[in-house]
Amino acid sequence: MITRQFGIPVTSPGAILRREKDLGTPLGQQTADAIQHGSLVSDEIIIRLIEDWLRLHGGHGFVFDGFPRTLPQAESLMAILTRLRTALDLAIWLEVSEQTVRDRISGRLQCSACGFTTSSSSAQFANRPVCPYCDGPLARRNDDDLDVLQTRLQEFHTKTEPLASFYGKMSILYRIDGNRDRETVFADISRLIENKNSA
Ligand code: AMP
Repeated sequence: MITRQFGIPVTSPGAILRREKDLGTPLGQQTADAIQHGSLVSDEIIIRLIEDWLRLHGGHGFVFDGFPRTLPQAESLMAILTRLRTALDLAIWLEVSEQTVRDRISGRLQCSACGFTTSSSSAQFANRPVCPYCDGPLARRNDDDLDVLQTRLQEFHTKTEPLASFYGKMSILYRIDGNRDRETVFADISRLIENKNSA
């Protein structure tokens, strides 16, 4: 939605690694187990992915989805951006309850080609699970499972939650209530991006 509205390229290490696995590359095979069990992939692998992606696509703005997830990743990102003489404008913290997370992953469908995400309860996709943007197949993720979720939540609490104070101290952290519907949440995110663009 951000790319369509603002033309800013978005990347997500999770999406990249799922594609690598589908393609059967060594990187995909090396990381598949951690992803399937809900553990975080090593910082070294993730930083290398982000650095390569930034070099290719990051010249005119960028959005990361699901990165950084650990303090070492956040610190490495700052070092990379300092080298590239690029500032980080916003860190958006989507706050969702565990109930919302459970509800969303139990019905999530994702396009394995472009990452478009929807829900199996959306009538539009119930009979024809095909991505409306690229015609790719909409499928369940193999880590969208309530047992795996426990590990993912534990990883979040121990390794990712400390990033709120990291970005809070830099005064770039904005919290948004992510329990609301997609359009309302996106309107809040859009407002933040527009305010930064016009600042
Ligand atoms: P996501 O698509 O963001 O839900 O990520 C799916 C999975 O990919 C995570 O559960 C991790 O195993 C891995 N992953 C994605 N982003 C990161 C990251 N920044 N650091 C470590 N592992 C990640």
